[in-house]
Amino acid sequence: MSDIPKSMRAVVYRGVNDLRLETVPVPRIGSKEILVRVAACGVCPTDIKKIHYGTVPPPRIFGHETAGTIVVVGARVRGFRVGERVAMHHHVPCLDCHACHHSNFAQCPQYLETGITAGFKPSGGGYAEYVRVMDFCLPGVVKIPARNSFFEGAMVEPVNTVLKAINKLRLCKGDTVLVAGQGPIGLMFTRLLVLRGMRVVATDLMEARLKLAKQFGATRVVRGDATNLSDQVAKLTRGRGADAAVVAVPSDAVVKQSLALVRGAGQILLFAHTRRGAEFPFDLATICVDEKDVIGSYSSDPMIQAEVARLIFSRRLDVRPLITHTYPLEQAAAAIELAAKPTEASLKVMVTVG
Ligand SMILES: [Zn+2]
Ligand SMILES: [Zn+2]
Repeated sequence: MSDIPKSMRAVVYRGVNDLRLETVPVPRIGSKEILVRVAACGVCPTDIKKIHYGTVPPPRIFGHETAGTIVVVGARVRGFRVGERVAMHHHVPCLDCHACHHSNFAQCPQYLETGITAGFKPSGGGYAEYVRVMDFCLPGVVKIPARNSFFEGAMVEPVNTVLKAINKLRLCKGDTVLVAGQGPIGLMFTRLLVLRGMRVVATDLMEARLKLAKQFGATRVVRGDATNLSDQVAKLTRGRGADAAVVAVPSDAVVKQSLALVRGAGQILLFAHTRRGAEFPFDLATICVDEKDVIGSYSSDPMIQAEVARLIFSRRLDVRPLITHTYPLEQAAAAIELAAKPTEASLKVMVTVG
């Protein structure tokens, strides 16, 4: 423990759009906890919203798609060693409450607690040099194989959220799914649905993203504003309409478009509408008579953790093309800015530490 410094650099959220590089104490751990030296942390849209809209009170250290190396293991922790390279989940359910008994893990009271911190109110802590992993988050710690990078490790959490959402869709092999939005998340949906044997119609407004969707196996790639989009879906489905639509972009117009493109008794899955307060008018007979289901999915599922790790680390889902930009910790604000306003060339943005 002697080589662990007393203080470290961290990017502290001090208020709306106010991130500061500060020196803070290295977190102390308890006997049932571990300390991890952060190597990489993905920039996630949910953190961006908190920073831009101030939905949670400061001060905090955000960053929850974190990978790094274990540097201290509490005396009462079993199964982890100093030097192991790991990826982490900041939310882990109790598996023993009403929500967990229904497999609604993201609604579990413990799950809603954040168990990884670099100081202040626990908020992920990945934008810092060290994070403390509390005891209840240890089941969410995944070891990264030697041949895989920390960046691949940092993708475990977001990929889990995507696979969890896919598991909510009632699909048969060969079904057609519209994936609207080919950002990093949309591209993961595209690839994972293709691996499950689905035909994917991928839409976006950026050519570079459509090109990558094609490489990821999409059957059709179409600009989201193309007038022939419904013809393309009709052609692929003998006029039935898509079996499901994934809305991976926070656009109400895309929700409306998806409701129209999905067949009767199909599903519309909302993945990007995480900001509260938005209302959306639609014809309720679409649900009652046409039996279209509007569903949502949020956060991860611990039960599919091993499958997610296998998909990434075997590179059946090769996340490497998704990581386009890396910034050092001092430039975390710039990293968040780019992730908030993506360019043709940008997808997943990572912050590298140390
Ligand atoms: Zn995230
Ligand atoms: Zn629970």
